[in-house]
Amino acid sequence: MQTLREITTLKDKKILLRADFDVPVGKDFVITDAFRILKQKPLIEYLVEREAKVVIAAHISATDSFADLIPQLHILLGYEVGFIKTIEDIPGYFENYQGVGLLENIRQLKGETENDEIFAKSLSESFDLYINNAFAVCHRQHASVSAITKFLVSYAGPLIEEETSKLNNALVAPKEGKILIIGGAKATTKAPVIKNFLDKADKILLGGVVANDFLKAKGVDVKNSVVDNNYLELLAGLDLNSSVLLAPSDFNFSEEKILDIGPQAMTEYSKVIQTAKMIIWNGPMGMFEDERFAGGTKAIAEAIVGSNAFKIAGGGDTIAALNKFGLAGKFDASAGPGTGFLSTGGGAMLSFLSGEELPGLDALEYYDN
Ligand code: ADP
Ligand code: MG
Repeated sequence: MQTLREITTLKDKKILLRADFDVPVGKDFVITDAFRILKQKPLIEYLVEREAKVVIAAHISATDSFADLIPQLHILLGYEVGFIKTIEDIPGYFENYQGVGLLENIRQLKGETENDEIFAKSLSESFDLYINNAFAVCHRQHASVSAITKFLVSYAGPLIEEETSKLNNALVAPKEGKILIIGGAKATTKAPVIKNFLDKADKILLGGVVANDFLKAKGVDVKNSVVDNNYLELLAGLDLNSSVLLAPSDFNFSEEKILDIGPQAMTEYSKVIQTAKMIIWNGPMGMFEDERFAGGTKAIAEAIVGSNAFKIAGGGDTIAALNKFGLAGKFDASAGPGTGFLSTGGGAMLSFLSGEELPGLDALEYYDN
């Protein structure tokens, strides 16, 4: 994997930067959480300071177009950002280069999600080199993440380096004192992580719908609780009786549905968390969006923050929960040296922690080293 340190001069280099600007957007196109954009800021600054000419390719799911977000991007990044509607407009943008440009939502352009090589080639044409700094899309086999590296000299940005190094530590750190906490909704993306950590963690604490799946598979009556349709298939191959796996011992039920872990489970989980040396957390313990069912997630978040362990957390809703409780800052390196890491990756983080090879990292030759 080539990194930026290997580029001798950036001055006047035309750079295609795959960034991650996939942020939640509320009413009137207001960006409600800028975490991912702010994680791109240091690299953009680095490139601008070295007088590189940068065009950013990124996608957004919460709205169709970046056009309405440009003024907010200007404020967040501290630079004017030019808007480029189509790939055909890139050469003209460079001819009259005034500063960092942002290409329209790349997922709206035909060929991106198909990893189309003709699309990737036409995207590559105006550029000297490509930098991928979008860890959160590395689990996607998309043209601006994968096929593009066939047409441009390619480099991993600092966020790719940071994410892969922190998450790789989570995989290889000694099992003793390593705790994995998995909650949330979609067991499809979470079961492979649980399976991969069964021999890598001291304890795996389950919550959310994932715990419902696990309990139902064990024959526990979960009443009308939400359960994945194919829960048995998803958990196949997992030793349900492993002493590593912990399910909640009590629940907060509402209308026959488990919607949060109960007070006893909160205490038991917090005790395990207190002894940890490393904690990896993805997925809320309950339906935390509703105040009545936020207690379990909050108790777990507070226990993690209060422990001396190195803390890693990721996932859109997990980070939203941390923000809601005002605890997101406690996971960051800014809370003190070596205290923790918030991943920008939801699906990408889970895929990495599952031990899968991510197409975007493969395209950067991460696995060849
Ligand atoms: P993340 O984005 O952090 O990976 P997920 O998207 O997997 O997390 O799951 C988050 C969602 O799971 C939240 O919307 C939350 O309300 C829901 N959830 C958690 N526990 C339950 C439960 N017991 N029943 C129904 N929904 C739940
Ligand atoms: Mg989510």
